[in-house]
Formats: sequence, structure tokens, C-alpha cells
Amino acid sequence: MQTEPCCNAVDETGDEAQPIRLRGHHFLCLLTYKGLGYTPAFVENMTAIAARINGCAKVILHPGPDDICAALSPADRAACNHDCAKPETAALDEMAEKATVAVLGHGLGEAFVLDAEKVARLRAAFLKGESRAACGICRWRAVCDEIAGNGFAGTLLKGAHAA
Ligand code: SF4
Repeated sequence: MQTEPCCNAVDETGDEAQPIRLRGHHFLCLLTYKGLGYTPAFVENMTAIAARINGCAKVILHPGPDDICAALSPADRAACNHDCAKPETAALDEMAEKATVAVLGHGLGEAFVLDAEKVARLRAAFLKGESRAACGICRWRAVCDEIAGNGFAGTLLKGAHAA
């Protein structure tokens, strides 16, 4: 059985009481995240979130705009033509939620540690195409396909216990 020293502790921000809110499709995007994103602030925030997850902060499957979206200001959204609150994005989230729940068994609103074994399971499903309905016509699709095809090399999400 795996020992879990870091997950019995408060994460490095000391914010254990507030799990990181992740909308459905961000459980996919984090798998291929290598530090690319819409704006410098978005990248800085998403990189920090990946590091917090690696450091045992809990996550929660959240409906709608989440802690990754929070780094985009209204001006950023206009500049990069990306609206986190679009109904179409919510529809993608529903597909990603189903896929994520099927792989991890954690439902909406249930806080849990995203450990390395769970990340590996999510990546296996991603590679098989079992969880990628939400990727649809996403503008990042070719980038994510290439990263996944390269075995997720250089990605920042390792999962708790593997940071
Ligand atoms: S293709 Fe788009 S939705 Fe799918 S993992 Fe990549 S960035 Fe996320």
C-alpha cells in the first residue's frame, strides 16, 4: 500500500479547506498542460494549480467557470476570444464530467487528492480516446494530440506523491 505523507498535511498554501475547483474539461486540459495558455496570468495561475495538485491540494469537480478560468479578466476574455461561461463550454464540461467520473469515480462536489495513479488512469483513457469527446473542435487539439502522442513528456501535472 502506498504511504501518503504529504496528503495528511495541509498543502503548501495552507488552504486545505478549499479544494481547487476544476470544471469537467479542465481534468483533460491539465493532463497535457506544458505551460501554454491564453495569457501570461492564465499560464502563471494554471502552473501554480498544477504545482498545488502535485503538492497534495485537493481538487473538486466543479460545474462552470473554475479556479483556472479565474485568471482570465473580462478584458483578457475579449482579447483572446474565449468566454468561460459560454453554454457550449458547459456542454463540453458535461461530457468531460461523465468521462472523469467514469475513470475516477468521484462525482461533482466531492473533494479528493488527484494522485499520480489517478493521473495515470486519466492519461490512459485520454490516449485511448475514451475521455476526449469534450475536446471536439478545441483550438488546442493538435497541440494536445502531439503532447499525448509523445507520452505526455514535459507536462507539469504529475499528481500527488510524484511531484
Ligand atoms: S484539446 Fe482542448 S479541451 Fe482537449 S485537453 Fe486539449 S486544451 Fe483541453
